[in-house]
Amino acid sequence: MDDTDSETSRPSSFSKDFDDLNSDIVFRSDDNVLFGIHKIQLQANTSGFATTELHSKNEIVSLPETSAVLEQLFKFIYPKRRPKLNADLDFVVIDALAEAAEKYEVYSAMEACEVRMRETLPNHADRILLYAVKHNYPTIADSAAMTLLHDPVGEVMKKLSPDLFLPWALYYDQWCGFQRRAADYHRQEYTTCKDRNCIVILEKLGASVASVADLDSTFANSTHLRWPEHLKRITDDALGFSVFVSGANK
Ligand SMILES: [Zn+2]
Repeated sequence: MDDTDSETSRPSSFSKDFDDLNSDIVFRSDDNVLFGIHKIQLQANTSGFATTELHSKNEIVSLPETSAVLEQLFKFIYPKRRPKLNADLDFVVIDALAEAAEKYEVYSAMEACEVRMRETLPNHADRILLYAVKHNYPTIADSAAMTLLHDPVGEVMKKLSPDLFLPWALYYDQWCGFQRRAADYHRQEYTTCKDRNCIVILEKLGASVASVADLDSTFANSTHLRWPEHLKRITDDALGFSVFVSGANK
């Protein structure tokens, strides 16, 4: 068989890592690869497969995931083969693997994906936000939401579904309030200040709400000490994104 065969015409063949003839369940991936799996491992390490219904040795159970995802997922049910999710693994696979791990309740894969999703930030913040809210990882959701403060609101709106964008818009508005208070504080406290560093800081503050979320960088050259301290006190009390999500669901 050569590489030009289309997905639909390709005959089923076993994954080389999961071709044990003594396996008692066979799964077929969306792209037509077979996985011979031992039922006892599924029962011991997962909860989401309805293994009691999977009894016939001749029956092949089709799953909607691709072989790239199942190759990773099934390694987690065999303790000896439990893999590291390498940094060179495509995020599309990680994202789908995280979803499959949650769906089939493959516990060790859930843990590995949680770590990997957290480490992937600040990249793919929109997908990671969706994952974290859906599967209830609030600290990851809060980090992803904060990362998205760097993006134009219109871009975030395109990336998030309406039920995520609405709470994110309220979260963003909170940071807009901090942004206004940052500029107000300087105007009120240092009425005659013409310091060039302050002009640069005020420009940074005006350019993006993310500037208030990253005070160390924004105020790196500040000649005033009280100004960033004041903002630190305010932003330390900022509500995390998860609070806005749970508020929207009440
Ligand atoms: Zn100043």
